[in-house]
Amino acid sequence: MFGLMFVLVIIVFAIVAVGMVAHMVAFGSVFWLIAKKVADAAENQRPKPCAFCGGTLLPEAKACDTCGAPRDPKHVAVRSTHQDSPS
Ligand SMILES: [Zn+2]
Repeated sequence: MFGLMFVLVIIVFAIVAVGMVAHMVAFGSVFWLIAKKVADAAENQRPKPCAFCGGTLLPEAKACDTCGAPRDPKHVAVRSTHQDSPS
């Protein structure tokens, strides 16, 4: 009888432990995603050097004050490839 109780307790503990691990993994990934988004937002809020002239790009500026280059170099690359393609 005690043996059966012991096995049941072990099974219940195992289920609880697996549930806790599953919750930790699930919530951990959610928290990691939130932390990454917060870090990305903080990165976007910081002044950063212009990719073209090295001048300071303010967070709210859409283009460089010094050379007028757009803030996001990716847009420039996409646009330039569009312009280069013969149409
Ligand atoms: Zn610039």
